Amino acid sequence: MKLDHVGIAVEDLQAAGRLYESLGLACAGREELEEQKVTVAFYPLGETRLELLQSTDPEGPIGKFIARKGPGLHHLCVEVPDVAAALERLAAEGFQLIDRVPRAGAGGCKVAFVHPKSTGGVLLELSEKPRK
Ligand code: ZN
Repeated sequence: MKLDHVGIAVEDLQAAGRLYESLGLACAGREELEEQKVTVAFYPLGETRLELLQSTDPEGPIGKFIARKGPGLHHLCVEVPDVAAALERLAAEGFQLIDRVPRAGAGGCKVAFVHPKSTGGVLLELSEKPRK
């Protein structure tokens, strides 16, 4: 397991990316996730990555987050071998889930979110790499 990425909500991918590009990081790809109403850009950083998230709809989760709190740190993503099994375990232990079943994430991963109410205020994403 590893910290797959750190999610950062931004107003403008290009403007936000400039900082990381000035530090020498390179964008490894952009992807629009229609279901989540967001466009993401990934910047590999050592063993992990930064995920910049720009809303494509004010009613989507990132649009609402920025309206409430402004841009900034949004979530941590931990890579797990099996998201469905992890959700089952967490639910059985009483943790509050946003997703009861995995959904499609960036790069063909299966992802699910755990509610900040039961993580001490941190929105936690679980991600499972696509099988090759
Ligand atoms: Zn993420």
